[in-house]
Amino acid sequence: MSAPQAIAAVKGFRDVLPDESRRWRALEEAAERTFTRYGFGEIRLPVVERTELFARSLGETTDIVEKEMYSFADRDTTGLTLRPEATAGVVRAYLENGLVQSDPTARLFYRGPMFRRERPQRGRYRQFYQIGAEVLGRDDPLADAELLVMLERYLAAVGARAARLELNSVGDRVCRPVYRERLREFGRAHLAGLCPDCHRRVERNPLRMLDCKVESCREIMTRAPVAADSLCDGCRAHLAQVRALLEQERVAYVMNPRLVRGLDYYCRTAFEVVASGLGAQNAVGGGGRYDGLVAALGGPDVPGVGFALGLERLAMAAPGTEAEAAGPAAVILPLEAGAIGPALALATRLRDGGLAIGLEPAGRSLKALLRAADRRRARLAAILGEEELRAGRATVRDLVRHQDRRQVLPLDASGPELARLLQAMIGGGE
Ligand code: AMP
Repeated sequence: MSAPQAIAAVKGFRDVLPDESRRWRALEEAAERTFTRYGFGEIRLPVVERTELFARSLGETTDIVEKEMYSFADRDTTGLTLRPEATAGVVRAYLENGLVQSDPTARLFYRGPMFRRERPQRGRYRQFYQIGAEVLGRDDPLADAELLVMLERYLAAVGARAARLELNSVGDRVCRPVYRERLREFGRAHLAGLCPDCHRRVERNPLRMLDCKVESCREIMTRAPVAADSLCDGCRAHLAQVRALLEQERVAYVMNPRLVRGLDYYCRTAFEVVASGLGAQNAVGGGGRYDGLVAALGGPDVPGVGFALGLERLAMAAPGTEAEAAGPAAVILPLEAGAIGPALALATRLRDGGLAIGLEPAGRSLKALLRAADRRRARLAAILGEEELRAGRATVRDLVRHQDRRQVLPLDASGPELARLLQAMIGGGE
């Protein structure tokens, strides 16, 4: 009988191993620290929502709804979807939990996996993670500016390299239709050069042509009319104040007149964070204002503004420091069977004392054990052999500095005392 074959993960779905998830945790913790200072509270949302929520919020004519959603019928035939993004869920929760009355200007942040059936490539997966923030109930430019200051501070805090903020206004319900019509006319006049997708977009959702990744379309769209030329007075004033506030706070940004968000409900402020060195998938995050969304989901006419950052791409743009990747403070190396008990006792007390400690199995040569400790990137090795057991002290070697000075840990010391001694050895001699 042949051995069973290993089962692979589903295409576009990947594992995040400890080295990477350590970085992710640092990015999430920094988000929590920064966002909390701006008055945001965390919302934990379900991963599954009714399909209708996304059909209504994203618009039937977006790529996501047309071809990228993981939708299925529940056993009772309810149409369900793995969320492709979280703003719709945030708005649903805002309405369903009565925040719209109890906390109408709620500030919520979230993190978690999103699902889109896109073609996988570097930086693009079918399950990916986002950190996002939403401000409900505010339509004033201060809300947009404050959110962008927070975003900039966060990117700086995590060390996102060469992240550039691009800004635009896509108009509102007054002037956006005018712009849409102008784009449609432009598209019709250039149909011959446009891809099949854009052929459909011309009639159904012409703003999406600006988003097209096909080279010939991109070339044509460089000559398309820009939203800025169609803005109504209200949108013009809103954008001007957002810009003035960003400049006051010295938040660097560039205007990108061709920036549109892929989703139908965006209006006025639209922005994207772009990083260099990430290849084709260089958008780390994006967001904007969505004043019509709450009403579209059955609520009152409440405005909103928010952003989402992709964690995979953020981790690439902000890879972190060596220190984060440090191994344990020490690895305990029992040389023989008699040292197993004392080795575990030593490890437990040091761990109780707050240190990260590795523990190797007994029964190998000292050389093999030291190699294992090195592989774990341990700072120190605490050796327990026959001689050490007799003397009641572990011999400590510095694996980084390789100094010969003999250091010892008394096995009968308390946890805090052991931790203090070990820390002094790590800190000493520098
Ligand atoms: P969006 O919700 O499309 O505005 O995306 C916001 C951010 O999420 C993007 O800038 C990316 O960083 C990230 N993102 C979106 N789709 C994917 C994907 N398929 N794989 C990885 N990251 C993604």
